Amino acid sequence: MTTILITNDDGIHSPGLAALEAAMATLGNTVIVAPDRDNSAVSHSLTINRPLKLTRHGVARYDVNGTPADCVVLGLSKVLREPPALVVSGFNLGPNLGDDIAYSGTVSAAVEGTMKGCPSIAFSTEYSTDGWDFDFSMETARRVAARVLERGLPGNTLLNVNIPKGHVNRETRITCQGRRQWEGDILEVSDPRGRIHYWIGGGSPISDRTSGSDVSALEEGFVSITPIHLDHTNHEFLRSFREQWGL
Ligand SMILES: [Mg+2]
Repeated sequence: MTTILITNDDGIHSPGLAALEAAMATLGNTVIVAPDRDNSAVSHSLTINRPLKLTRHGVARYDVNGTPADCVVLGLSKVLREPPALVVSGFNLGPNLGDDIAYSGTVSAAVEGTMKGCPSIAFSTEYSTDGWDFDFSMETARRVAARVLERGLPGNTLLNVNIPKGHVNRETRITCQGRRQWEGDILEVSDPRGRIHYWIGGGSPISDRTSGSDVSALEEGFVSITPIHLDHTNHEFLRSFREQWGL
């Protein structure tokens, strides 16, 4: 029996989660363990300073008052009796490209699944002015997940899948992680007493258009699939760092 654990970072009520659940239901038995509210940009944080509540909302549907990583930890250790065939996270409402990956709760949930030895995929969808059109995202997720179920993934490796708006050419690019930083993303706001506060978020992305990157693939309207490795070591630098720095 193929069991697929599904989570996200936008929370259990996100339409993206419902769409991913519908897509995965054609491939296996789905089990949802998702945060009870929006946890975007919480990265891989684990809740260790308070107990967590796992609330059942129906057959194979739970929320947790914690982070996406908490959800995967509890899903694998307390909800499922056996490791799932697949852990999927998404559809995030907005892409996770380049530097976004460091902040993303969506991707971090897939990282947690990978750390626990399960094939894991993060799915993110780009917003279009027509709203969230999940049809193409669902079709893409089914195609990618089916292939991972069939072939597995190398150790310590997850897939970060981004689906463009419009999907004009409906093609896929296998990409590397690019760079995408944000400009003007700190809003200065004042409270009712006139004190200044700073609100991080928003702004405009500054993308590098390195060919072959996730950022450029999406800008060109392609689905981007990046294999992400858990090892952050700069292996190219390792040898000269060891031999020449005298540390
Ligand atoms: Mg999100």
